[in-house]
Amino acid sequence: MTDGERQAALQQIANEVRVCTGCRLHQQRTRSVPGEGNPDTEVVFVGEGPGFNEDREGRPFVGRAGALLVRLLASVGWRREDVFITNVVKCRPPENRDPMPDEIAACAPFLQRQLQVLDPALVVTLGRYSMATFVPDARISQAHGTMRPVDPATGAPDALAFAMYHPAAALRSTDIEQASVRDMAGVPLALLAARDRREQHAAEFAAAPAETAAPAEELAPAEELAPAEELAPAEELAPAEEPAPAPEPPAGNAPDAPAAYLPAAAPVADVPRAIPAIRAADAASAAPPAHAVLASLADAETPTDQLTLF
Ligand code: SF4
Repeated sequence: MTDGERQAALQQIANEVRVCTGCRLHQQRTRSVPGEGNPDTEVVFVGEGPGFNEDREGRPFVGRAGALLVRLLASVGWRREDVFITNVVKCRPPENRDPMPDEIAACAPFLQRQLQVLDPALVVTLGRYSMATFVPDARISQAHGTMRPVDPATGAPDALAFAMYHPAAALRSTDIEQASVRDMAGVPLALLAARDRREQHAAEFAAAPAETAAPAEELAPAEELAPAEELAPAEELAPAEEPAPAPEPPAGNAPDAPAAYLPAAAPVADVPRAIPAIRAADAASAAPPAHAVLASLADAETPTDQLTLF
């Protein structure tokens, strides 16, 4: 798919979202919120659903939670226009209530199509409803800061999912805010692992005899489709240059803990700079404390004219 075809496909999805009446959420929305960002990115952030400000502007993560997300991105040298940001449901649930299962199901084809078009290496889930789409049966208190392969049925053909708390939760809790800073520091590392994994899959496909090579739609490696207990251990997913062993799952939580654990989040300066089709970041500075990271970053929204809007 060319860049132009990708952009046109995302625009087509956005046009359909804007007039969608597929569930009850269309009845009270001001504007639906398809998503926005770089159509050529390797990283897609998926939140839960639009809030008050998003509903008014038709853009994702533009309120206080969005400002925090921008600061978290900046803490690893990324900008919101470097990634793609969208939600599980594209219309605001009344009073910011949780989306209902039938609403999530009705809206799922839009997210699925966006992921098929974007083909990200890494999906960062924001909050438990987004995480449940990509990492079923996990608890966010255990799964945040970890990654695992994405089921291609979600739309992303060959991706890892990295779980984070929703920024709105971080606004309500200092502990979650600090955890979110630590988790974000692991996102570039997860991108490196995702790139390695995709390159490995491509090499395996290229090496396969022509008569036995599967067609593209059947390429999903077995471990992606395997149940959680059969997923590859963390050391197989970590980049080769990352020597730190994966920590054990929290004591007592092993049965439903995610199978693939990242190493504990490294200080920002120690995390390899994996930039999604992006600019180089300054990795030279020493890692400051979590609150200092956020406090030192300008609380500036990206000008709309620098974004690709859909
Ligand atoms: Fe359509 Fe999704 Fe909005 Fe429901 S939430 S009306 S399915 S776009």
